[in-house]
Amino acid sequence: MNSYQCLACNSNQNHYLFTKNSRFDEPFSLHRCTKCGSEYISPLPDENRLKAYYEKSYFTTRTDRGYDNYFSNEIKTEIERVFTMNLNDLGFFNDSSLRENELQSLDIGCAAGYFVNYMKTLGWSAYGIDVSEICTDFASNRLQLNVVHGDYLEHKYTNKFNLVTMWATIEHLPRPDLFIQKIHEDLDNNGIVYISTCRCDSLFKKVAGKRWRYYNVPEHIHYFTLKGLTTLLEDNGFTVTTSFSYGSGFGKPGSRVRLLADYIAKRCNTGDMLVIGAQKRDEKATL
Ligand SMILES: [Zn+2]
Repeated sequence: MNSYQCLACNSNQNHYLFTKNSRFDEPFSLHRCTKCGSEYISPLPDENRLKAYYEKSYFTTRTDRGYDNYFSNEIKTEIERVFTMNLNDLGFFNDSSLRENELQSLDIGCAAGYFVNYMKTLGWSAYGIDVSEICTDFASNRLQLNVVHGDYLEHKYTNKFNLVTMWATIEHLPRPDLFIQKIHEDLDNNGIVYISTCRCDSLFKKVAGKRWRYYNVPEHIHYFTLKGLTTLLEDNGFTVTTSFSYGSGFGKPGSRVRLLADYIAKRCNTGDMLVIGAQKRDEKATL
């Protein structure tokens, strides 16, 4: 891998887009893959540089990047509303194989553990992992959840999962390809992965240009197209079964403009949030 390679489709062909300064006034250059259209910071930001952007304040202070107060009841309610909407659109509630007993789920980048808690209330053995210790402390001590602090790539699981989720996490990862490969290993036969992320081939993103709401460098490193994320999954042993997009970022929240733009985004599948569902392929069946 070289530092200008697209980690979605492995192409080395790209072109420079622009350079944006972070909130610490550090410059980061964005490139677009000419094959799949995905965009990414290149060269990849240094890991030590990245750490400074994920301090405690990321989850507890109001910024346009972090959350007002990630541990408040209002945030929990809003997050659960989005989970339910996404799971409904993914067909989760209609899949009889996901209603069997003793199913196990893993949420990577679980933050305060709200999705882990959500799956637990549905009767699943639910696990979570996150690099933020303040979040995993809250999840394991306050919510009594099975959540660990650490880097997923370094964590060994002895059990296999039926469902692995990454909600708004993959865009933060320096090496999303390695995560997808490990998820494939950690899933049971025919296991499912659900991923949500910002979508860079959205009409609303194109109109917003450089002012797009998700251009938060360097916290967001990879900006996938549907084609790019599909290629990443299909090249690593998955079959994409569902995808949809929603959200516009247009107008003020709650305004008529926002409601109309969000309606168009979802109806025309051109939202700037992408949700994708994929199933681990049964490699033996294809031999
Ligand atoms: Zn690409």
